[in-house]
Amino acid sequence: MRVVFLGAPGVGKGTQADRVAAQFKIAKISTGDLLREAVRVQTPLGREAKQYMDQGRLVPDSVVIGLVRDKLAEAPCANGFVLDGFPRTVPQAEELEQVLRATQRPLNRVVTFKVPREVVIKRLSGRRSCPKCQATFHVEFAPSQKGAVCDRCGETLVQRSDDKPEAIETRLKVYEEQTAPLIQYYANKRLLSELDASGSVDAVFEALFGVLAPYSAL
Ligand code: AMP
Repeated sequence: MRVVFLGAPGVGKGTQADRVAAQFKIAKISTGDLLREAVRVQTPLGREAKQYMDQGRLVPDSVVIGLVRDKLAEAPCANGFVLDGFPRTVPQAEELEQVLRATQRPLNRVVTFKVPREVVIKRLSGRRSCPKCQATFHVEFAPSQKGAVCDRCGETLVQRSDDKPEAIETRLKVYEEQTAPLIQYYANKRLLSELDASGSVDAVFEALFGVLAPYSAL
């Protein structure tokens, strides 16, 4: 199964992508996670990406496309994948289509996550992230059992610089301008399913499972 999760920052794509990857035994590719890791270990690509990410702007298409192309060629993707946070622009979507066409592995479904703006802002501003293993928590809705450190690996949790109020505003604006056009793009290709993602993690997963189950054998 090959799927894309679309939606504004903070709609819960990453959380659901983890669960879908585990449930359907497919790879999760999160360009945000890949870029944050490159920033953390200070590769040249990470140093270039950091300036954009800190401000909540998109990293140039050429950089992100290269990362995804490499990942898709790796063995874990042979069984399928869920793309979280990619594509985010029409040129990225076109490039993805070409890469997948070359290997005869077209997308099966694109799910667009819908959540009211107030809820998104609440989710993003309360999010705390592990800089080491990339686990995410929420101060109110999903706190770490260990307080200020990560449940999974014990690292001290941080607020991502792009989860601060000014960057959140920019990210939502960038989403509307550059990413939201992909909804129509995939609707035209008859690949789109809309998902109300405003409920609990379990409720959203149940609905998502219903959308994706028909593709599980592909
Ligand atoms: P995310 O974790 O998906 O919210 O991504 C965090 C940041 O990484 C974004 O605000 C962008 O700066 C950058 N980023 C992630 N995915 C992409 C992408 N597909 N294209 C461009 N920039 C991206």
